Amino acid sequence: MRARSALSLDDEIVHRIFTFCPNSGTLRCMILVSKAFHKVYQANLKATYNIVGPALPQALRVLRYPYETPDGVARMEEDPDTLAADCPEDHAASVITPIELQYLEENSEVIVALEDIYSVTQKDRSSATSVLTAVESLRFRRAAYRIMFYCNLFPSTSGRLYGDELNVNEITHIQIQRTAMLASYPTDELLQLYAVLRFFQRIFEQVFDNPSDMDVLLTLGPRGAKRAWEKRSYGALLRKEFKLDFDDDKDCLCHRYFSLPLENIWTERAVDPPSDEEPATRFILDSIIGADDTCSQCAAPGGLALLTQANWSRTQLLPVQLLKSRLKQNATLWTPLHQAVSAHMADKLANGEDLPSYAADGPWIKSVFGVPKTSEWDGWTEDKSYCLPCLTKFLEEHVWRWLLQERIKAGWSPPEDCRYGYDCRSMVHKPSHAAGKNHLCVPKEDNDFKAHVLSKDQEHTTSLGQRDFAAAVLLPLQRQSAAAIYGSRVCRTS
Ligand SMILES: [Zn+2]
Ligand SMILES: [Zn+2]
Repeated sequence: MRARSALSLDDEIVHRIFTFCPNSGTLRCMILVSKAFHKVYQANLKATYNIVGPALPQALRVLRYPYETPDGVARMEEDPDTLAADCPEDHAASVITPIELQYLEENSEVIVALEDIYSVTQKDRSSATSVLTAVESLRFRRAAYRIMFYCNLFPSTSGRLYGDELNVNEITHIQIQRTAMLASYPTDELLQLYAVLRFFQRIFEQVFDNPSDMDVLLTLGPRGAKRAWEKRSYGALLRKEFKLDFDDDKDCLCHRYFSLPLENIWTERAVDPPSDEEPATRFILDSIIGADDTCSQCAAPGGLALLTQANWSRTQLLPVQLLKSRLKQNATLWTPLHQAVSAHMADKLANGEDLPSYAADGPWIKSVFGVPKTSEWDGWTEDKSYCLPCLTKFLEEHVWRWLLQERIKAGWSPPEDCRYGYDCRSMVHKPSHAAGKNHLCVPKEDNDFKAHVLSKDQEHTTSLGQRDFAAAVLLPLQRQSAAAIYGSRVCRTS
């Protein structure tokens, strides 16, 4: 394209020439002596601003900070104040190189996704994309980029910058560096950073409930938080790009990763530390929408925690858990259910995304709401808000009907109905019976049936069928096998 330069060079080539300028002074001279160059420069800056938004200075610092010395050595011994002042957030116009632009886009995807999650969980449950105001969005993104930067600069012991063995004095020095780095921000912006950390913490708690390991998870920064939210799986955090180093030693680098420097700063500034008992959202948000809303069916209070189409992904319900009664334990249904759910998640799968392990996300739930309903379910629509018990009750009553409908649509001819329907106990133990009869049906009401159910309900709690269910309930809908998950938990103690 040559719209802006009016030179015999494409804009992209002019931009490329900019990237060879040895310093900003040379670049400034180049821009000042040529109006055409100046236009290309301005156009590029605007495009970058559109991608990243007003947190561009913080986003650029993530990329440009010299994490190592020119000799490739970690700066762990450097003076803390020097470290904190280096490569300051640059609010002046600055040329973005193509490679920087690529990294800005990649990081921006993470931050924007997290803002969407923050918005739907903390601001307004009815919108899957962020409805934060411009000011709220800046607070969130600025803090998130600063956390990203901090995590790059101070990785855990298994990170790329440090060796494995650090003595107590070295660790203490790094902790002082951390305090100095965070102390370079004003108090109100530090409180915003604290609020975003609390948000990440809530995400990590969903996949890993050991509070003593929270510091280690926080070292994963925004990218780890996003992945934890998307996968709801501890195993998903054990990929190569995430460096986890669990160490119970209080002298390890992760110990009080953010909390110690923040505590130092609150004390130094004589600021009342924020209470973990109070909502930290007040440091980011000026208003919350629907905070006092109640369940559309039972009027239970719920506010932002109520479930509706935009935030079904908050639930951690596995589809198989939503099958009615003993259908959950009918192994012959797991594969058809997986296929039916996958068919409604085709868009996500086509984009190379894994099927979420919880899989209560996406259009398949909407399609369950489309199943013909009896009159008692009139008014239960996907756009209304429900408490978890009400949503679960609705889904348990309709997922099996939906599965029957989907299987028939896919060409399945149901065999004869079993008289015990979804309450049948034999389908749990006898594969031939489970496959030979249709159990996606209502039990026939008669005395024999009642006697059958009542007597069997008193029996075992650890049948083979239930053990199979416990092991397999995770399998059909997770790329990570149960073995991988349990294996990873073993690894962290080894
Ligand atoms: Zn309810
Ligand atoms: Zn049966």
